[in-house]
Amino acid sequence: MEGIAFRSGTPYTDKGSTVLVVSCSNNAFLPYLREFLEKELVLAEGTYDLLLVPGGPQFLLLTEYLPKFAWVGRKWITFLVERHGLNRIVVVSHDDCVWYQDERLIPAFVLKFGHDPMSLAERQKRDLVEVVSSLRELLPATSVEAWFAEKGADGFLTFSRR
Ligand SMILES: [Zn+2]
Repeated sequence: MEGIAFRSGTPYTDKGSTVLVVSCSNNAFLPYLREFLEKELVLAEGTYDLLLVPGGPQFLLLTEYLPKFAWVGRKWITFLVERHGLNRIVVVSHDDCVWYQDERLIPAFVLKFGHDPMSLAERQKRDLVEVVSSLRELLPATSVEAWFAEKGADGFLTFSRR
């Protein structure tokens, strides 16, 4: 047919989903995220909804600095959970996330003088705890779990439950 440049290798199939994964859109992180989802959480490709945005689930905590981001993010998550009948949300953050290094998004005074001085990784881990609380409050019937990925000295990524 005229204009068609590509045809899928298999017919379109909806495998169904009960899980929403919220993580960072970082290109380098994506292959490792997929590997983690498939091997550790046993989520085959096409069996979960995926919401990838810069900084991952951190947008849920922007109620003060960027309230529209938080509002939109909550709408997206609620929409997916309700429309797809999801019962589980998995949030994953990774270290060295550039979102956390950008002063437009996390103001410098918060990074430096927020509650107590801490490394970005520590801040991210603490944020994950708040993200989980926020999601449990938003969607009490949905199970929520948080993971943090860190690069070791050997270059491999480890994922730990927060
Ligand atoms: Zn990131």
